[in-house]
Parts: sequence; C-alpha cells; structure tokens
Amino acid sequence: MANIGYIQVVRHCNHFCGFCSNPTTPYTHDLASMRVLVDDLVRRGYFGVILTGGEPTLHPALPDIAAYAAGRGLHVRVITNGHRLADPAFARELATAGVSLVHVSIYSVRPEVEARLRGMEGTLPRALAALDAAHGAGLRLNVNCVINRLNADHLDEGIRYFLRHHPYVRHFVWNNLDPSMGRAEVNQAEFTPRLGDFELSLHRALRLLHKSGRTFRVEKVPLCYMTDFAWASTETRKIVKGEERIVCFLDDKQTVRQTAWGHRYAPGCEVCSLRPICGGLFDRGDGYDPGELAPVFVDPEAIVQAILEDGDDPSDGPIRTLAQWKARRDPPPAGAEEHDPPRRPEPEPGLVPVGRVTEAGRRLYEAKRRAEARKAERAGVRQERPAADDEPSPG
Ligand code: SF4
Repeated sequence: MANIGYIQVVRHCNHFCGFCSNPTTPYTHDLASMRVLVDDLVRRGYFGVILTGGEPTLHPALPDIAAYAAGRGLHVRVITNGHRLADPAFARELATAGVSLVHVSIYSVRPEVEARLRGMEGTLPRALAALDAAHGAGLRLNVNCVINRLNADHLDEGIRYFLRHHPYVRHFVWNNLDPSMGRAEVNQAEFTPRLGDFELSLHRALRLLHKSGRTFRVEKVPLCYMTDFAWASTETRKIVKGEERIVCFLDDKQTVRQTAWGHRYAPGCEVCSLRPICGGLFDRGDGYDPGELAPVFVDPEAIVQAILEDGDDPSDGPIRTLAQWKARRDPPPAGAEEHDPPRRPEPEPGLVPVGRVTEAGRRLYEAKRRAEARKAERAGVRQERPAADDEPSPG
C-alpha cells in the first residue's frame, strides 16, 4: 500500500487557536526519536510523511529530519502556520533539505477574523508572505483551512482572494473542525459550526476552484453537504480504496494506525445511497447535530470510479478497480453506529514509542501552561484540559 504518515514533531505553537485539537504536551522529540518513526514508515512501504505539530517549524531539527526522510526516499511535506516560513531564507532551507510541499494554514482572509481565530494579531500578512516565500523557494504549496463558526459564511471569499493574489497555489484542503479534542473540545460553543452554516459558502468555494482548474480535498464533511464534489472527500477516498493512515501523536496516544472510520450517522443514513462510501459525522460527542444529516439518492459508482481513476493521487490501498470495490462492498447493518460513540482505536502492539517525557520537558510544559493560561484569558477562550485522552486527528 502507498500511504502517507503523520509525525507530530513538536506539540507547542507560537499561535493560540481556540480550536486547536493538538495543543501543548510535555512530550519532546529529538532527531534520533524522529528517525525511528521515519524508518518505521519506510518499512511499511509508505510513500510519504507529513511533518506536523503543534507548529513543526519551531523544532530546530526540522530541516534535519526532513533531509533524513527525503534521503530514505519519502515524499516530505510540512504543515505550518507560516510564521517562520515567511522568512525566505528558512523557506530555502526547507527546500534544500528535501521538503517537496508545504501546507500553509489560513482560516480567513479577513484580518480581524484570522486574528481572532489565531489568538493573536498580525498573523494574516505573515501567512500570506509565507506563501510568496515558499513559492520563491520552489516549494509546492497547499492552503489548508479549518472550517469553523467564524469563517463558515465566507469560505469562497478566501478562494477569490487566492486566485487573484496567489495564483500559484494549486491545491486547497478544507478541514471541518474536530470538536472532540484539545482546546476545540472546551470551546465548542464558540468555534464549532453547524453544517448548514458553511454549506453554501463551501459549495461556492469548491465550484470556483473546480472552474479554475485547482484541485482540493475536504475532510470531515458528510457527503450530503458536498454531494457535487463527493470524490474530493478525504474519508470517502480512503473508504473506497481501503487505505490506512498512521499518525504518530506526540502525546499519550502515541502511534495510531487508522484503518476504519468510526463516525456517527443518523437514522436517515441507512436509506442514503452514499452510506457505503460516506464518513458521516466526525464527532464522538454532541459537537454536531445528526439531525442536520439528510439522505441523498445519487449513484455512488460514478463517485467511486472518479476516485479510482484519479491519476494525480499517489496514495492507494487494496482496492484499485470498480469491480474490486463492488466485490468488497458490504453495507453496514442498519443502525449499527447510530448511537454508539466511536471508540478510540487501540494502539497497535509493536508500534515504536513516540518521543519522551523528561523532567526538563515537564518543567517546560508547566511553564507553557502558565503562559497559555494568560493567552487564553486575553483571547477570551478556555484552556484545554491538561491530560490528553482524545480520539486521534492529525491536525
Ligand atoms: S450517509 Fe448520512 S451523512 Fe452520509 S451523505 Fe448520507 S445522509 Fe449524509
């Protein structure tokens, strides 16, 4: 199988997003502990690795681990808020190290909304400068956006802006907010959108991108809220192909191998034609309302075929043809997951340990918690619970 794995290289950040699902922990990595994880992905036949966080550019060994992974034949990506990447010299350093692609997270092109979501002023110009710096360094670029209550009504505004001012960005990733982890969990009322809040603006954004020849993926959005572009759903693509995903969390969850999608569905989902390929609601609590889900009656095979015939997507799993998919299709029993909160996947025996908690790391963590408590107060949001015990999401 050709999959891409995630390694969280740090779990601290220079921004303070009120919906961060992977906030600060006492765990730390060094180059040696990250190399072990890279070697494990190589051994499993993965084609690439995404270095993420926290904010991965804050780890001094980021260029070294990128160079190591690239040297071992992996395609290397970094997900960043763009704060350090705005420095052209740093962008060149990452490119020289072997990073192929960076995902820069930008939530809104309205500066006041972006500042509110980031918990600090001045983040938007810096992220936009990061796009130019990365492009100048020859890095391929994606823009990532977490869909939330504050940007839900103007997702398309951002796309118009990028098409005009940063036309070299060719790929966009939308992530609906995961309300079940970290700081997002304790600030649900402020940041978790209703599905209906973003339906229209997401549709407009996807139409604009499609028309302009850009590509895109959408994560954690039920297919009834993106029916025209169902082939772009990350969960659907993985369900169709039977892909797995490895996430090396830098917290108590450690490495998790995700092979199934234990999401929530509504009673109406059982009559929906897209049920066999839909990830449903990404939620293990009451962050989203299953009452917003509405069955659709369109041909799932056309969607499956579009996914399996997409030559631009290097990831794959055991399912490669429509005939294989039809043979394997196994509709879930009626109501099976309707009211069962999905279980957190069990860590797999034999997976290598991730990072470590040293005495110095713990002291640093406690100092950061105190500093972040002050940030939370200034930003008017709640600080996450100190112990992480959440369902995995790579951020
Ligand atoms: S299975 Fe449920 S969540 Fe998915 S598209 Fe159908 S109604 Fe929506």
